[in-house]
Amino acid sequence: MTTKTTTVLGYPRIGPDRELKRATESYWAGRLDAAALHETAADLRRGVWEELRDAGVGQIPSNTFSFYDHVLDTSVLVDAVPGRFRHLDGLDAYFAMARGAAGVPALEMTKWFDTNYHYLVPELGPDTRFRLADPAGFKPLAEYREAKALGVETRPVLVGPLTYLLLAKPAPDAPADFRPLDLLDALVEVYAEILERLAGAGVQWVQLDEPALAADRTDAELAALRRVYDRLGELAARPRLLVATYFGEIGGALPVLAATRVEAIGLDFVAGPGNLEALAGIGGLPRRTVVAGLVDGRNVWRADLRGALSTAAALLGLAGEVVPATSCSLLHVPISLDAEPDLEPDVRARLAFAREKTAEVVLLGRALAEGQEVIAGHAAATAAPRVDNRVRARLDALGAGTPRASREARAAAQRRSLGLPVLATTTIGSFPQTDDVRKARAAHRAGRIGVEEYEAAMRAEIDRVIALQEDIGLDVLVHGEPERNDMVQYFAEQLDGYAATVNGWVQSYGTRCVRPPILHGDVTRPEPMTVRWTTYAQSRGRRPVKGMLTGPVTMLAWSFVRDDQPLADTARQVALALRDEIRDLESAGIGVIQVDEPALRELLPLRAADRAAYLDWAVGAFRLATSGVADGTQIHTHMCYSEFGDVIGAIGDLDADVTSVEAARSHMELVDDLRRAGYAAGIGPGVYDIHSPRVPSADEMTGALHRALRAVPADRLWVNPDCGLKTRGYAEVEPALRNMVEAAGRVRAALDD
Ligand code: GLN
Ligand code: ZN
Repeated sequence: MTTKTTTVLGYPRIGPDRELKRATESYWAGRLDAAALHETAADLRRGVWEELRDAGVGQIPSNTFSFYDHVLDTSVLVDAVPGRFRHLDGLDAYFAMARGAAGVPALEMTKWFDTNYHYLVPELGPDTRFRLADPAGFKPLAEYREAKALGVETRPVLVGPLTYLLLAKPAPDAPADFRPLDLLDALVEVYAEILERLAGAGVQWVQLDEPALAADRTDAELAALRRVYDRLGELAARPRLLVATYFGEIGGALPVLAATRVEAIGLDFVAGPGNLEALAGIGGLPRRTVVAGLVDGRNVWRADLRGALSTAAALLGLAGEVVPATSCSLLHVPISLDAEPDLEPDVRARLAFAREKTAEVVLLGRALAEGQEVIAGHAAATAAPRVDNRVRARLDALGAGTPRASREARAAAQRRSLGLPVLATTTIGSFPQTDDVRKARAAHRAGRIGVEEYEAAMRAEIDRVIALQEDIGLDVLVHGEPERNDMVQYFAEQLDGYAATVNGWVQSYGTRCVRPPILHGDVTRPEPMTVRWTTYAQSRGRRPVKGMLTGPVTMLAWSFVRDDQPLADTARQVALALRDEIRDLESAGIGVIQVDEPALRELLPLRAADRAAYLDWAVGAFRLATSGVADGTQIHTHMCYSEFGDVIGAIGDLDADVTSVEAARSHMELVDDLRRAGYAAGIGPGVYDIHSPRVPSADEMTGALHRALRAVPADRLWVNPDCGLKTRGYAEVEPALRNMVEAAGRVRAALDD
């Protein structure tokens, strides 16, 4: 019925100038001591609390800071530290879990739901004994006290126990029937202790994040949810509980939570508009608080505050109290537009980063209390996206595009046009990015060297890379991608409809931050993007050079994308630009073109029911991009994984002539998986793991190829590493590629016999 306050579910922790990255990396390098690192961290936390307080946010979160990752923090909090790290302590143990240490491999890292943030996967087994590792000074308590000492009352944020266990994996030595969820009751007892101790310190509210509820959940998992919050709800002395859900609709979890004693439920009305109807469907929560995710926490657009306000108004009739909030933590967006002086005004007028989103939440709170006049100015300042009618007309005319000829007809044409041997050898595209290459790119960006000097440096690099590949004897060459800083940004910078930020950093994992480009309007390609470099490379080599592009899905997945039209429509615009690029490459004599789609699986919707529609447009966009070429032009694609799961059928539907995938670490099982899924085109299961500096022997790779040949005929088998080589050094790459070519030769000879 009422609204008195506002909140955000979390805030970026890297600092406005990536101070955390700098300090942490200095600490790792031994240039900064632990005390100085802690001091930087405390400054950053204070900065966030004061910023939120000064912005007028009613309820301020704490424990949103992390030295590396909030899931890792949770593992440390509840002492879920695998044995191999137990000889270390403090920050050393913490960073070893994140990054590995001498002889001790790190925890596995994976994506946080469908975002580009990565967390460290808890590793649990029947021997895991949860306990509150540091009862007197555990992190949520310490941060609460720290804020309190600064005069700021906060709401500690914890990963909810159910989500924590659902994100965990069994330790490698756990018995086959062990499931992390078996440990639920033990974990909940530690949370109970945490809540009691926080209450003892004066904490009034705690936020328990349960984003796992936005994905499909079994009845058993919903029963577990019930058990968690019944148990925590019945504690005699505890803070009030906000169970925050986000990233989508929570379906059957809503009535379950409603039946517990939690005081507040956070619902995401941006990614999950259906949450509103669901709430009405259970008769609302008349005596509870709804923390209403009305401002998108993971995209960069200004909110439609009128729309948000009408949702909030509808909620007033469905809840005891409505607290306007961000839809999720603001961790996923850059800190502030204040740091972006160069954005074009019409683009800037549509944007809101963390600071601006916080102001929107506060404004919504005021509008609810004082009336909607409060937001009039905000609405007026918003601009419309740029429209390009030519692109739209071309896409309408193209429809799905004409499919390519049959795979067999193409294969025959390509045998004639390319004349490649069986078990053709190639690489995935990038070659080591040497210091010289990076320096030349940086100097060019900073204006210290002119275009000519820069391009001469890139040409010299291409000369070297081509000569090396010919010397090694690879069959299909690449130019090495020295001119590319990043496989998405490089293209975004050349396409209209995309904007780049100068300081729009977002944490990807640990100290790694990325600056996703912003796809803000209709996408067009003013001029060819790669033709010059690729044809230059071809002019230097006798063997075919493979053109290298980033596919439409990946171009969207690693950018901020428009929310004013379906993703499928945006994907088609990017695909059309790529289609034009591919045609230009082909006309310039490039006969092999690779369109990388490493993000195909990443964008897969959290709910199974949404997946078919996603794969349909994702595959459609790829085919639109690649179907405009002659039969004799060979289309490759590349993906950085080998467990395809739900996308395995889509791999074949892409209709590429050759697909290269990661396989070195999964022992070629995937070749068999692909065959069973009906994949019948060329396949390059990576025969060596580029993620390790180890140089694989020719024997080893020969063995891998023989194994692959059990599932795929020789004329469809390609020989390549499992990913691009840019993170490696020549000292490893050169011998490894020589061994790889040697292995291919041996297997060909064996086939001839
Ligand atoms: N062509 C890219 C490269 O070799 C592919 C990168 C990737 O798969 N992520 O670097
Ligand atoms: Zn890859």
